[in-house]
Amino acid sequence: MVRIRGLRKSFGAHLVLDGVDLDVGEGEVTVLLGPSGSGKSTLLRSINHLEKPDAGFVEVGGEIIGYRHQGGKLHELGHRTITRQRARVGMVFQQFNLFPHLTVLENITEAPVAVRGASRKQAAARARELLERVGLAGREGAYPRQLSGGQQQRVAIARALAMEPDLLLFDEPTSALDPELVGEVLAVMKDLALSGMTMIVVTHEIGFAREVADTMVFLDGGRIIESGPPAEVLANPSHERARAFLSAVL
Ligand code: ATP
Ligand code: MG
Repeated sequence: MVRIRGLRKSFGAHLVLDGVDLDVGEGEVTVLLGPSGSGKSTLLRSINHLEKPDAGFVEVGGEIIGYRHQGGKLHELGHRTITRQRARVGMVFQQFNLFPHLTVLENITEAPVAVRGASRKQAAARARELLERVGLAGREGAYPRQLSGGQQQRVAIARALAMEPDLLLFDEPTSALDPELVGEVLAVMKDLALSGMTMIVVTHEIGFAREVADTMVFLDGGRIIESGPPAEVLANPSHERARAFLSAVL
C-alpha cells in the first residue's frame, strides 16, 4: 500500500530525512518512534505531499504522490491531482485541528461534501454511522469546545474516516490528552486496525505498539535504524540509540 524509497528532505542546511525506505502492506499497522527532531512528522507529512521530497519518492496504492514519470524524470502534478491523491490519505494530528465554529456533524461532513461531491444528506448519514463507531453517537450537534480532548480526537478520527481513505496517518494522536483520556482514543485506533485499516502511527504508547503494530520502526537523525515486529525491536534493539530511547519511554 505504501512504498517509500530513498526519501531525502532538508530544511536549509539541516538534513531531516536521510534516505528513508519504508514499506507498509495493505491492512498493516506501522508504529514510528524516535527522539524529538528525528524526522517523524516530516516523514508523515511527506506521505501527503505536505512536504516535497528533495530526492526519492512516496508511493501510495501504486501511485507516486505528487509526481508523474515522464521521459525518465519526475514532474510535479497539478494541484487538483494532488488534492485527489491527498483525499485518499487521512491524517490525525496531536492538536485535533477541528474547526471550532462548526458542529461535530459539520466538521465531519465538510470535506466529503466539498471535495468528494457527496450530498449533505448522504454525508450526514455517514457521519452519524462514524460517530457511533467512535463512541460518540448523539453528539453531532456539539461544538468542539463542548467536548473533552479525547472526544475531540475521536471526532477528528471520524472526520478522517469520512473521506474513506486507503491509509490513515496519526501524528502523536494522544500526546495532548490528559492521561485518563488516552485509552479511549487508543481503543478506537485499535478497533480501526482490527477492521483492516492501513495505518502509520507516530506514538510513544509502547503498549499500543506492542499489541497492535505489525511493524515498529525507529527513526534517528532522519534514518531508520531499527525495523521489525514490536516484540523483536523491544526485546533486542540492535542500536545503542534505540536502546537508550526505549529504556527511557518503557
Ligand atoms: P517531535 O518528536 O518533536 O515531534 P519529529 O521527529 O516529528 O519531532 P520533525 O518535526 O519531523 O521531527 O522535525 C525534524 C527536524 O526538522 C527538526 O529539527 C525541525 O526543527 C526541523 N523542521 C521541521 N519542519 C521544518 C520547517 N518547515 N522548516 C525548518 N525546519 C523544520
Ligand atoms: Mg513530530
